[in-house]
Amino acid sequence: MPELPEVEITRRGLAAHIIGTTIEDVVIRNAGMRWPIPKNLPKLLRGRTILSLSRRAKYLLIDCGNGILILHLGMSGSLRILPAGTPAEKHDHFDLILGNATLLRLRDPRRFGAVLWHDGGTQTHPLLAGLGPEPLEKDFNARHLFTATRKRKVSIKQCLMNNRVVVGVGNIYANEALFRAGIKPQLAVGKLSLPRCAKLVEEIRATLTEAIEKGGSTLRDFVDTSGQPGYFQQHYWVYGRGGEPCRRCGSPIRQIRQGQRSSFYCGKCQK
Ligand SMILES: [Zn+2]
Repeated sequence: MPELPEVEITRRGLAAHIIGTTIEDVVIRNAGMRWPIPKNLPKLLRGRTILSLSRRAKYLLIDCGNGILILHLGMSGSLRILPAGTPAEKHDHFDLILGNATLLRLRDPRRFGAVLWHDGGTQTHPLLAGLGPEPLEKDFNARHLFTATRKRKVSIKQCLMNNRVVVGVGNIYANEALFRAGIKPQLAVGKLSLPRCAKLVEEIRATLTEAIEKGGSTLRDFVDTSGQPGYFQQHYWVYGRGGEPCRRCGSPIRQIRQGQRSSFYCGKCQK
């Protein structure tokens, strides 16, 4: 599943190709995504110039002047720039035909992704309005995490995956950042001291930043026409390593279930 680093890499990869270009047409092959793709998109977007491409949580926001096209990659979505006229394959549900002889194509085999239209301000869309701070921005800091978690009994792992506390920290990066911060995933979040909040914020930022840098250098070019752009594989400390030895101390990595998701941790390195 694309997590925040993949979405950010997608944004960076696409930006140079689409900003400033004109949308000549819109092709909807299968509107049946997580929510239906609006039928009037071709009418709204023909002739519009793409002004910017930004990201909020895992949503990509294409500013078209008269509104914002909101894209989400869901479980299996990917976006690529292809030469105009490239034949569509089975899971290619949506294209923006661009004025520079290319097209932006959404492929999504599982169709949990989304293509939505919003003609108000970015922050007013129902999917975006209640979101917490971005993990790589200044307003996500030790004081914010400390204040947001006082007297709460929920586990720190589940708290990190709550979009109202911080956005875009999915299962992989929550597990990894907690290992790096030496905090066990099931710790009641209200017990986290301010210095430990500071350490955790630092490790969340570092984990995501490293993933973005690594992914940016290893991911296949977004202009490549061959095959499916794969999500990059990484060398994890704990994620997916249940029963294997801890890379720091050698103890077996433990695996538990929290809120329907797997958590991985070292019982010696994380307290
Ligand atoms: Zn260990």
